[in-house]
Amino acid sequence: MDEVFTGNFTQQEPIPEAAIEAAVAVLRTGRLHRYNTVSGEAGEAALLEEEFAAAMGAKYCLSVASGGYALGCALRALDLAPGAPVLTNAFTLAPVPGAIAATGARPVFVEVTEDLVIDLDHLDRIAGETGAKVLMLSHMRGHLCDMDRLLEIAARHDLRVIEDCAHTMGASWAGRLSGRDGVIGCYSTQTYKHMNSGEGGLIVTDDPGLMARMILLSGSYMLFTRHRAAPGPEYFEGLKYDTPNVSGRMDNLRAAILRPQIPTLGDRIARWNALYMRVEAGLVATPGLRLIPRPQAEAYVGSSFQFLLPGRSAEEIADVVSRCAVRGVELKWFGAAEPAGFTSRYDSWRYAPGPRLMQTDRVLSGLLDLRLPLTFSLEDADQIARIIDAEARR
Ligand SMILES: *Cc1c(COP(=O)(O)O)cnc(C)c1O
Repeated sequence: MDEVFTGNFTQQEPIPEAAIEAAVAVLRTGRLHRYNTVSGEAGEAALLEEEFAAAMGAKYCLSVASGGYALGCALRALDLAPGAPVLTNAFTLAPVPGAIAATGARPVFVEVTEDLVIDLDHLDRIAGETGAKVLMLSHMRGHLCDMDRLLEIAARHDLRVIEDCAHTMGASWAGRLSGRDGVIGCYSTQTYKHMNSGEGGLIVTDDPGLMARMILLSGSYMLFTRHRAAPGPEYFEGLKYDTPNVSGRMDNLRAAILRPQIPTLGDRIARWNALYMRVEAGLVATPGLRLIPRPQAEAYVGSSFQFLLPGRSAEEIADVVSRCAVRGVELKWFGAAEPAGFTSRYDSWRYAPGPRLMQTDRVLSGLLDLRLPLTFSLEDADQIARIIDAEARR
C-alpha cells in the first residue's frame, strides 16, 4: 500500500494564548471601534500600528480591514487619473488586480519568469511603452525579484512602487525588509498569511503626506490625532476636506489578536523555513521537476512551496495532481483550464483585458503550489516530498 498523508493543508496554528486573553479583555470593555477610547487609553489599533512600524523600521503605519483594502488605499493615496495604467505582476492573487480596477485605474500585466518573479526586462520595456507611473509589485508566493535592479528601473521610469507583501512579511532582500523599498508597503493578516487575525491589513510608509491621506481615506472621522504611528496634524490640515472616506479601518479586537504575534514572527519564519527546506531536499533528485532557485540576497519566508513540471502536457500534470490528492497531498495547479480556489490567472480577470503573455502562460502551465502550515512537522514535510517525488516519477 502506498503511504497516504493525513495532515490538513489549511489548518493553521491556534491563536497564541496571550492574544486570546488580549482579545477577551477588549471584548469585556465593549470598546471595539478603534476610536472608542477612554481618556489616557491609546487603543489596541493605535498600539499595533506603533509596534508594527517599529518592527518594520518604518516611520508610519496604518492598520486596515484587509490586505486587499491596504492595496486599494495605497493606490488611492497616489491620486491616479481615471484609467491610468498601473503595472503589476501577471502572476499574483485576485485582490491585486481587483484593487487596481476598483480605484478606476487600469491593470497592465508584466510577465513572470521561471523563477516566479516579475520579468524585469519586460517591466523595463512595458514601463516605457505605457508611460505608467505606478508599479504594484506583488511578491507572489514569497519570491522576491532582484530588488536592486527593480529600484534602478523604477527610478529610470519615474515609477512609484507599492509593494504587496502578503507573502513576504518578515522577508528581506540584501538585508532590507520587504515592504521598505517601495514608497508604500502593504501586508495582509488574513488567516493564511504570516500573522493571523482572520482578516486584516497593514500599511507602512515613511512619507508623511501619503500616510495622512491613507489615514483619512481609511475613515478617520477627523479623529486622526488619535493615531500614534502617524505624521503631525499639520499634514492633515490641507487634506481633510478633500479626501473621501472609504471606510476600511481595523478594529481593536483584531489589533489585540495581532499585537502578541509580532514578537513571534522571527521564530515562526525559522519554523516555516525548516519545513520548506525539508520539502525542497526531498525533491532535488526528482527527474523533470524544477525547483525554484532562491537567490543569495533573498531571505525568504517558506510559508508555501512551489515547483514546476516543465514540458509536461496538461493531461500529465492533471494526472500527477489527482494521484497526489488521492494520497492526501493537495497541490494547487495554476495551469488548469478553469481557476479553482485561489489559482485564478491574469486571463481569468476579464475586467482587465490585455494581450496574451506567452512566457507567463508557459510558466503557469507547469506551476504547482502547496501550503506549509506550521501545524506540519518535519516528518510531515518529508512524507509530502516522498509522495510528490513518487507520483512525479510515475
Ligand atoms: C492574500 C493576498 C493579498 C491580500 O488579500 P486579503 O485577503 O485581502 O487580505 C494580496 N496579495 C496577495 C499576493 C495575497 O496572497
